[in-house]
Amino acid sequence: MDYYSNHIKTLIDELGRLPGVGAKSAARLAFHIINMPKESVDRLSDSIKAAKANVHYCKKCCTLTDDEYCPICKSAGRDQSTIMVVENPRDLAAYEKTGEYKGLYHVLHGAISPALGIGPSDIRLKELMQRLGTEPVSEVIVATNSSLEGETTAMYISKLIKPTGIKVSRIASGVPVGGDLEYIDEITLLRALEGRVEL
Ligand code: ZN
Repeated sequence: MDYYSNHIKTLIDELGRLPGVGAKSAARLAFHIINMPKESVDRLSDSIKAAKANVHYCKKCCTLTDDEYCPICKSAGRDQSTIMVVENPRDLAAYEKTGEYKGLYHVLHGAISPALGIGPSDIRLKELMQRLGTEPVSEVIVATNSSLEGETTAMYISKLIKPTGIKVSRIASGVPVGGDLEYIDEITLLRALEGRVEL
């Protein structure tokens, strides 16, 4: 038996597809949205559409940005000789919050995972190697997560870069295993960065 209107059911189904939203949360959110003033619902749906239409990859570091180049790549104050490689824009944000890192970034948008069928060509590695051929980089800091996928990716990057003569380092293992970088406090991140070891 159908308890809900078709529109509510569709909304619950769509919300339920989002990561971390179970069936109960999806239903709770759907009923909350139905009870919201129309203007608030419009703001929410407009912001989703606008973000999707206007956000794209930075031409240099591949993080998400509204312009051709992100504010970090555009900034004259950043150290152009260091690139920190992270898995996603949230990890970049975590390092930026420390306020201590002055170099550039490169966002992979994922990590190598043979189990999930994600290979080196599925993440933004080619773009990284292209940058190393054209930018004055002397060190690449690999700050992928300490999960199996993150470590696999770090090893792969190290092997790829070694022949170029550019220094490759890995953030220290102070970062909890399997822990998402965005949930780690700033002091732990800074220690991991300072204690990095050459690969
Ligand atoms: Zn950028």
